[in-house]
Amino acid sequence: MKKLIIAKNIGFCFGVKRAVETSEKLLEKIPSLDTVGDIVHNPLVMEKLKSKNLNVCNSIKEIKGKYFLIRTHGLSRKEIEELKNRKIKIFDMTCPFVKKIHYLVENLNKKGYHIIIIGNKNHPEVLGIKGYGEKINIIEKEKDIFYCKKNKMEKIAIIGQTTLNFSFFLRFIEIILKKIKAKEVLIYNTICKVTEEREEEGKEISKKVECVLTLGGKESSNTKKLFEICKKICENTFYIEKISDLSKINFKKFKSIGIISGTSTPNFFIKEVIEYLKKI
Ligand code: SF4
Repeated sequence: MKKLIIAKNIGFCFGVKRAVETSEKLLEKIPSLDTVGDIVHNPLVMEKLKSKNLNVCNSIKEIKGKYFLIRTHGLSRKEIEELKNRKIKIFDMTCPFVKKIHYLVENLNKKGYHIIIIGNKNHPEVLGIKGYGEKINIIEKEKDIFYCKKNKMEKIAIIGQTTLNFSFFLRFIEIILKKIKAKEVLIYNTICKVTEEREEEGKEISKKVECVLTLGGKESSNTKKLFEICKKICENTFYIEKISDLSKINFKKFKSIGIISGTSTPNFFIKEVIEYLKKI
């Protein structure tokens, strides 16, 4: 008999759940709904939503419909203003944790702080946050600090992308503090605990089992990170995006299996995987 350990922190996180459920409800009432970028980085969920008339645009310029949903990553103030001017009805599903950062940046900006965001320069969440301040630098790699140093900074405030690993965030703060001299420095912990908790649980499970299944879309950065962390501990860690991926694994070899997932993995998929394993 095989042992199966299922992570406690599994399936959609609170922000994604809210955005997906709202889209589903809206699509039952309105003819079509536009969004910029995938609401969730999971092809199974996106396929379902698109079949119900969710239009995924690349930028707000492409929007043709009357209804628009802001995904969890949020949008810049300028983009929201543009949508309002075009009389488009907005359903704002920006995750409250991200929204809090928007208010924070706006407030710090008014007080004249130079804001440093530690995060991925091209990530939609970071680009959205950038739109709430004026003097902003994004630090993704150590060399980015060099460009910061070019600007004279009296007062700085450091924040991080919500999905950053906390130790990574601390390491960068340390480097920034060594390299940038400012009279006043404020540091805000803006990291969402959800991904961190999953990584910690993933590590624990990986130590206990012979095989780990990481469920989630290939485009989901938090699932990718989770997979990489667990793979370092348990070499038989597999990335499962669709049910057919399971047929490539020889489960006979393993006495114990762990199941973990990213924040954009739907429950129906997790159940399907568990059913598959029960059958074998
Ligand atoms: S991971 Fe955290 S910040 Fe991102 S959508 Fe989920 S709850 Fe919100």
